[in-house]
Amino acid sequence: MIVYALRCACEHEFDQWFDNMADYDAKKVAGIACPSCGGTQVAKAIMAPRVGKAKAAAPAPMPACGPGGCGGGGGCPMMSQFG
Ligand SMILES: [Zn+2]
Repeated sequence: MIVYALRCACEHEFDQWFDNMADYDAKKVAGIACPSCGGTQVAKAIMAPRVGKAKAAAPAPMPACGPGGCGGGGGCPMMSQFG
């Protein structure tokens, strides 16, 4: 499912759900009616970003790995690829 922000010729904006882009095209050809005025001169408006569960993930800090390995324990994954 995909939601498009649509706008009619009277500049009423509304959201409409579609199965996919092809579904949008099909319904647009068939005629999408504005819920406010019933006009079918409807076009995609600028997409308003829908933020759901997505959360800005903080970049993971680089693992501290000195030239001597991680504390000399020998378990440093970054050093083991050179060995
Ligand atoms: Zn309208």
